[in-house]
Amino acid sequence: MSGTIRVPAPVNEPILSYAPGTPERTELKAALRSIAGQEADIPVIIGGEEIRTGRTHAIHAPHDHGLRLGEWHAAGAEEAQRAIANTVDARREWASWRWEDRAAVFLKAAELLAEPWRSTLNAATMLGQSKTAFQAEIDSACEIVDFFRFGAHFAERIFDHQPISDRGIWNRIEYRPLEGFVYAVSPFNFTAIGANLAGIPAMVGCGVLWKPSKHAVLSGYYTYKLLEEAGLPPGVINFVPGDPVEITAAAMDHPDFAGLHFTGSTGVFQSLWNTVGRNIARYRSYPRLVGETGGKDFIVAHPSADRDALRTAIVRGSFEYQGQKCSAASRAYVPESVWKEISGDLVAETDALAMGDPMDFRNFVNAVIDRGAFQSITGYIDRAKASPDADVIAGGEYSDADGFFIRPTLIRAHAPDHETMCDEIFGPVMSIHVYPDAAWSETLDMVDSTSPYALTGAVFSQDRSAVREAMDRLQNAAGNFYINDKPTGAVVGQQPFGGGRASGTNDKAGSVFNIIRWLSPRTIKENFAPPMSTAYPFMGEE
Ligand code: NAD
Repeated sequence: MSGTIRVPAPVNEPILSYAPGTPERTELKAALRSIAGQEADIPVIIGGEEIRTGRTHAIHAPHDHGLRLGEWHAAGAEEAQRAIANTVDARREWASWRWEDRAAVFLKAAELLAEPWRSTLNAATMLGQSKTAFQAEIDSACEIVDFFRFGAHFAERIFDHQPISDRGIWNRIEYRPLEGFVYAVSPFNFTAIGANLAGIPAMVGCGVLWKPSKHAVLSGYYTYKLLEEAGLPPGVINFVPGDPVEITAAAMDHPDFAGLHFTGSTGVFQSLWNTVGRNIARYRSYPRLVGETGGKDFIVAHPSADRDALRTAIVRGSFEYQGQKCSAASRAYVPESVWKEISGDLVAETDALAMGDPMDFRNFVNAVIDRGAFQSITGYIDRAKASPDADVIAGGEYSDADGFFIRPTLIRAHAPDHETMCDEIFGPVMSIHVYPDAAWSETLDMVDSTSPYALTGAVFSQDRSAVREAMDRLQNAAGNFYINDKPTGAVVGQQPFGGGRASGTNDKAGSVFNIIRWLSPRTIKENFAPPMSTAYPFMGEE
């Protein structure tokens, strides 16, 4: 049996509106009530077996200390060892499956998520990670569907890449999944990142040990169950929430450790890279290290910028999901002439953003993820309030009485190197530096050199030569660069995502560049007419 089989041409999953009166709104509200009304009991899952270790952690909604969503069982070193052995075993059989059978599992998961599972994953994300219906929809529904549909399509484009063959010879490349196991370590802020970090290496035949963030275990568990229902065999992905240090030590000390698929903070990624370096001699293969990490994402406006577009981009780009997107705008450079015109409306619009429980769909922002984040973000706000180099011009209030709520905050930073212009704050805080209109070119250099990161950035200008200059001077300042648009909201298949410098390895999630990292090509040369004697013609007698 053979055939040049192709997965269906991918299309982006449409974003549902959840406007009053829509069926999706009714369904989502029912799912929210159901998840909020039950206590989940989430196990470690190894080889399809649910393991309740008894070392439990409660799950509380970040926006409502009184809302207990259940508990999860933590894996430790022993479960990690078991899971690794099981993953390596399961991978042998899985890697031998035909590509179309493996792809079908993920394409089915995409369809299940687009329909019956959509409200469950969205509700779990809204409650567990404190997201609005819209922010959950673009993450836990649309982006996961897109990662799986486009992932299958991009994998086929890689498989199509074949060498030429000379006469009498047939050259070909087989794309083998990595030998051993891939360690996927995911952050709290996007359910889709967990699905992608674990799912994409698995789709192309790898075995995956998946350690989700402790703040996203609920949505991670439902993601795992979705894949199970779609037909993912036991052990291909093992789900091991738990102590990050113990699990990482088990994974990275193991000779079969073949790759790290990480998204999270820069410091953690650098420490994992160090561990790999120290252990390098013990591995069977050189591990692939893929990490997407922090950002200090910018908006830079030229005097010709469209005022309304700039103001809207600052508000949406900085405050959606409480600024807890790696791509969130968190520093802006605005010329004096533009600032005079927009500052009043910008402050008013920021102050008017409704904040509260995601169950109340009128809210634009919800709570930050936990007490640690709350303390760190409010520390920046308090220091800005006390500093002569900065003024808090909108927001600045916070309360952890009911949940971890911080008002969307605008800081005017008089000093361009004030800490809020340089550090990743990862919260609803936007710092703005106002520059003299004539200092456009110097300001671009300041944007480039102020932070070690290079994830996303945006230029606003109606003047093409200014756009061109920003593109050139900021060539290495962002892996995702936007012209007259906010720097968030990358869509799979449209804006492959990732940054350079301290922001990561820039392997572009949801693209061929990422998928290729989980494959190890084998070149095969077959000779139909092999030489029959050792001597070459030039060696003959004259
Ligand atoms: P985090 O670094 O705290 O955690 C990420 C993961 O690493 C979690 O699974 C966590 O348990 C694990 N971890 C933490 N300490 C560890 C240790 N010592 N050893 C091994 N594993 C460890 O990040 P977070 O708070 O979950 O996410 C926010 C960060 O992620 C921000 O810095 C943000 O910019 C970044 N992020 C980047 C992107 C991107 O595409 N560049 C996307 C999303 C988030």
